[in-house]
Amino acid sequence: MWDSLVRATADNNNIRVSAAITTRLVEEARQRHQTSPVASAALGRVLTGVLLLSWNLKDKGSITMRVLGDGPLGGVIADVNAQGQVRGYIQNPQVDLPPNKHGKLDVGGGIGQGNLYITTDLGLKDTYTGSVALETGEIGEDLAKYLVISEQTPSLVSVGVLVNPDLTIAAAGGIIVQALPNGSPEVLTKIEENLQNLKPISTLIKEGNSAQDIIKLYLKDIEVKFLEEKQINFNCPCNKERLEKIMISLGKDELEDIINNEGSSEVKCHFCNEHYYFTKEELEKLLV
Ligand SMILES: [Zn+2]
Repeated sequence: MWDSLVRATADNNNIRVSAAITTRLVEEARQRHQTSPVASAALGRVLTGVLLLSWNLKDKGSITMRVLGDGPLGGVIADVNAQGQVRGYIQNPQVDLPPNKHGKLDVGGGIGQGNLYITTDLGLKDTYTGSVALETGEIGEDLAKYLVISEQTPSLVSVGVLVNPDLTIAAAGGIIVQALPNGSPEVLTKIEENLQNLKPISTLIKEGNSAQDIIKLYLKDIEVKFLEEKQINFNCPCNKERLEKIMISLGKDELEDIINNEGSSEVKCHFCNEHYYFTKEELEKLLV
């Protein structure tokens, strides 16, 4: 099954839903960044969360989510473009922590206290950044709080990552249900009732439910209109040319320093952990 993002509406467009399966995406992030189980869960939830927000993106638009807490995992940053390409990284990928009091991966403890920032770039002139103080650091609740405060839409957010004993990703994904102001309160009550009987989202995905299935489970007994399905993947647009530009931007003095002291240079892309190697000759060409 491919990773996918599905969008749907209900209640005359007053309920907006995005659901995603991100198991492969999170597994690729895990392999690239060599994340511990709790770091896989934190990064996976942020990758899934930003993807679920990409509802309105077109053409060159992008959304960046930054979760900057004071916990041992450090910051988590992910972005998504209109093509469903997602990338992200976590500051301290190797940090591991004991389980929390519920016996679960302690994402909240790893993230700590801080803020969540969402930057939306619609590909036009301006970007918009909104933020909220983290509620629990568990990502789902924090994102729901952001949507309520910043976008004034009562929202239900569920993002989850299940890690296998061998540290690979067993299942990952999420759902956002947003209630627009003119919606019917009965529909919301019904969704809340449905939720009471549902297993955690990562379990539903592990059991083989698709993104459509998950929407049907959350919106059981409600008429749903499916809008589109998109294949998604981990993709970083970095390449050697872009890295060359960054090297040039260091300035002539800095570059000469590197050439004289180290001879060659290896540069790493934060987002995808791809390493780029520059020989002495290549660095000298950048000086011209
Ligand atoms: Zn990259």
